[in-house]
Amino acid sequence: MSVDLTVWPPRYDRAYRPDPAAEYWFPELECCDPGTRDGLILEKLRRQVEWAWRRSPFYRRKWEAAGVSPATLHSLDDLAKFPVVQKAELRLSQAAAPPYGEYLCIEPGEVARIHGTSGTTGRPTVFGIGREDWERIGEAHARILWGAGLRPDDRVLIASFFSLYLGSWGALRGVERLGATAFPFGAGVPGQTLMAVEWARELKPTAFYGTPSYALHFAETARREGIDPETFGFRTLFFSGEPGAGIPATKRLIEETFGGRCVDMGSMAEMTPWMTNAECRARTGMHLWQDLVYTQVCDPGTFAPQGPGAEGTPVYTHLERTSQPMIRLVSGDLARWTDAPCPCGRTYPRLPDGLYGRIDDMFIVRGENIYPSAIEDTLRAIEGFGGEFRVVVSRRETMDEFVIHAEYAPSHADPGLQGKLRATMTERLRARLGVHPVVELVAAGALPRTEFKARRVVDDRDLYRRSLHGARP
Ligand SMILES: [Zn+2]
Repeated sequence: MSVDLTVWPPRYDRAYRPDPAAEYWFPELECCDPGTRDGLILEKLRRQVEWAWRRSPFYRRKWEAAGVSPATLHSLDDLAKFPVVQKAELRLSQAAAPPYGEYLCIEPGEVARIHGTSGTTGRPTVFGIGREDWERIGEAHARILWGAGLRPDDRVLIASFFSLYLGSWGALRGVERLGATAFPFGAGVPGQTLMAVEWARELKPTAFYGTPSYALHFAETARREGIDPETFGFRTLFFSGEPGAGIPATKRLIEETFGGRCVDMGSMAEMTPWMTNAECRARTGMHLWQDLVYTQVCDPGTFAPQGPGAEGTPVYTHLERTSQPMIRLVSGDLARWTDAPCPCGRTYPRLPDGLYGRIDDMFIVRGENIYPSAIEDTLRAIEGFGGEFRVVVSRRETMDEFVIHAEYAPSHADPGLQGKLRATMTERLRARLGVHPVVELVAAGALPRTEFKARRVVDDRDLYRRSLHGARP
């Protein structure tokens, strides 16, 4: 095999590339008996934990307090005794020991790249990535993109922000290592989507990377220019940053719109290589590429690993990271896992429903747990839906009001058709969610599109509670 696993971190042959006809990058790792692979994972894990124990005051304090250390790690099951890391702890550690925090395990001068969170929530987190780590990230992403069907003759349009956001850069590095042609177009500048459409028409890229909502925005922009999105000729569209590519109706819509494979990917920026949750080209849910990042789906309260089929939150552990290793980082996403075989032949476990929600995105209406992804899946399966929606939850007196503003397609401008559409949406949403929504229709294009992570839920009940409180004498 073209990787030396007897050393840690592993040494990859940077000139290696499989034959384009080959299904796998490293068949010995991807298709082996899971028990055999677990032995390799444990060996990597022990070295990874030892590395962090020696170099990071952050981990040493945490682990000493919990009574664990490299010496207590005898099996993969023992990892569950190690305390989890929450993102808030990383921010605190960076505030106390700026800029990288007390979990930087290389010398600051060895950091080759600085990135950060997109800053959508809380204080930004700084990522310092070592040069050798960045090379290994490229190796991991090339191998995983190969599994998604990318080959050296692909031209890949990367239509996402090139900024602190790591997703774009990781995709770029993987595409380059795989030997395909990278077209790092970016996103987010006014007028850039129209430009991307025009460039894509000329350059005929064969693959697309971005967020699912941006791909749909890109398709709408193309149609306004009189271009059928299918004529771009994308064979593979791969996504991260949002759950959409794993939502069945959205996946179908993207595949019908572009005529290519819609491949779901993504874990967390902190975890980069984030593609270690990634579908293969069979698209049966994201594989967990366990020998790169070891993932446990855990109870969101106790963080005990859950068996197949149970709902939990993915908790991630790096296995070959020297700069800022994450050992049991809590994602806050929701998923189920399965070890049922995949037609691709890889023996990695899978998340058959992807990451379908977040612990903190879930909202409760009249006692029912509701995920925005379930609303999206339901609406996108309805003929006449115009493509975008918003949810407003508020409270009138003691009753939750649950209003879904949904766009109707231009084909449903007739008031009679709209009446039927509203009734269909109301009924199917009620059946799926367990509560009765008020559906209000708006014209297609009336709701704002986002080029990044779509935020579709407004919960006004806290405001209501506060105003109620303020009104008291
Ligand atoms: Zn597969």
